[in-house]
Amino acid sequence: MQTFQVLIIGSGFGGQCAAINLLKAGIDDFRLLERRDFFGGTWCQNTYPGAAVDVPSPLYSLSFAPYRWTQMFAGQAELHRYTRHVVERFGLRDKVELDANVERIEWDDANKRWTVYTADKGTFCAQFLINATGPLSQPVVPYFNGQERFQGKTFHTNNWDHGYDYRQKSVAIVGSGASAAQVIPAIAPDVGHLHVFQRTPHWVLPRADHRFGRFQRWLLGLKPVYKLLRWGIYWQFETRVFGFKYSKPAVHRVQRQALRFLKLQVPDTELRRKLTPDYTMGCKRVILSSTLYPALARRNVTLHSREQGIAAIDETGIVALDGQHIDVDLIVWSTGYDATDGVICYPVTGKNGTCLKEVWAQYPRAYLGTALPDFPNLFIVTGPNTGIGHTSALFIIESQMNYILDCIRTLRDQGLRSIEVRHEAERTYTEMIHREMERTVWKSGGCHSWYQSRSGHVIAMFPGFSFSFHRLTRALKPADHILS
Ligand SMILES: Cc1cc2nc3c(=O)[nH]c(=O)nc-3n(C[C@H](O)[C@H](O)[C@H](O)COP(=O)(O)OP(=O)(O)OC[C@H]3O[C@@H](n4cnc5c(N)ncnc54)[C@H](O)[C@@H]3O)c2cc1C
Repeated sequence: MQTFQVLIIGSGFGGQCAAINLLKAGIDDFRLLERRDFFGGTWCQNTYPGAAVDVPSPLYSLSFAPYRWTQMFAGQAELHRYTRHVVERFGLRDKVELDANVERIEWDDANKRWTVYTADKGTFCAQFLINATGPLSQPVVPYFNGQERFQGKTFHTNNWDHGYDYRQKSVAIVGSGASAAQVIPAIAPDVGHLHVFQRTPHWVLPRADHRFGRFQRWLLGLKPVYKLLRWGIYWQFETRVFGFKYSKPAVHRVQRQALRFLKLQVPDTELRRKLTPDYTMGCKRVILSSTLYPALARRNVTLHSREQGIAAIDETGIVALDGQHIDVDLIVWSTGYDATDGVICYPVTGKNGTCLKEVWAQYPRAYLGTALPDFPNLFIVTGPNTGIGHTSALFIIESQMNYILDCIRTLRDQGLRSIEVRHEAERTYTEMIHREMERTVWKSGGCHSWYQSRSGHVIAMFPGFSFSFHRLTRALKPADHILS
């Protein structure tokens, strides 16, 4: 059994950010456990054609690791390079244990430490555990009748098979969310025919992308310029919260803009009808794309709406609800992730045998989206209600680090061994979150989205400004915790 002061599970930006903050706090005795055979999460795993961030890169980057981006909305390859840059710059390469798939963790109250069981790398233990397994890292594939009989190729966007040549083939893409909106324009010109199966249309706004020229990239290398640009983008994006929570007229104004954009890009009235959402903008993630609608309007692309959706799958293709049989060579599942009920994907046993699964039976919840009573010294990065539909997830991750590091430092400085949030503090926090949620478009916008858990609670999103979350997580509130 290998023992460390801190174990971090996951090596995406969440895990990297935790590791760097530990090093900054003078804590070197830690390991990152990563189930894959490579370092880095989302942007090393999602290599599908067209994959790119939808928050401008100067904001979608770690505040302490600026970068000379080539593109305002960086593509997957550049985000991969950025990951490597962060890993090398902060010397994280030797800190990771690859192929270490965590299968379960248990709190050992006598020794005040966590035991971590992995599939192939044995057992680890640590005083502190930081779970950074990602909000969107467990892909979901729905089941359709007969699916197992399909003789063609299938894969999820999360696991794109680059060995498969889709050119001139008949391809079905199931799903029409953020990943599909990037894949469709990227592959449509090359496939024989593309069938897009859409359950619900999304609101789409143009993406003001921009390639940084040489001089601009040089400017990005100047810290004050980078900072200024980052904060300019931050505040511009932060204003979106007014629409999501406070101002119906503001959101209706943007909806009208989106409808004008749709009319401009899609001349066909029937296609436009299929693409017009019937819920309030923001209820589902808004898609930023200037290329999606023209791709859907191509002659070799067919959009199948809900009523023409998938009834079954057979050896050669898809049987649609309207009875039509569509021959396909490849089915791409762009069906998203278990973002709500799969916040932590392995069994967690806390104090007195408390099971996280039971605590979260109704819906996942956590104090500051990070800590739970009965689970001492356990911190969840991008836990329940930390998602943010309007700005960079990395801003939230960095905010969580303030709280996590403050907990660890406080114990160290006071020579104590464990910290646990009080039941009442967690309850009060969770009640506040769901009270505030009532006013948001995610709750009342008239859609069903991955932001909601099976119980109907919106558990992916934080119902407010990201700076409010930052303020809440700025420092440990000792009165909310039991230290021992
Ligand atoms: C396609 C896509 C596009 C996105 N676009 C944006 C965007 O534009 N803006 C934005 O703000 N956010 C976006 N996100 C959200 C994105 O997940 C976050 O921005 C951020 O990358 C999360 O970092 P993370 O480290 O928490 O999770 P991840 O990057 O998912 O990393 C989690 C890591 O944990 C590992 N892991 C999981 N389970 C285990 C286990 N049991 N044992 C060991 N290791 C494990 C995984 O293999 C992975 O490497 C996007 C997500 C996806 C999937």
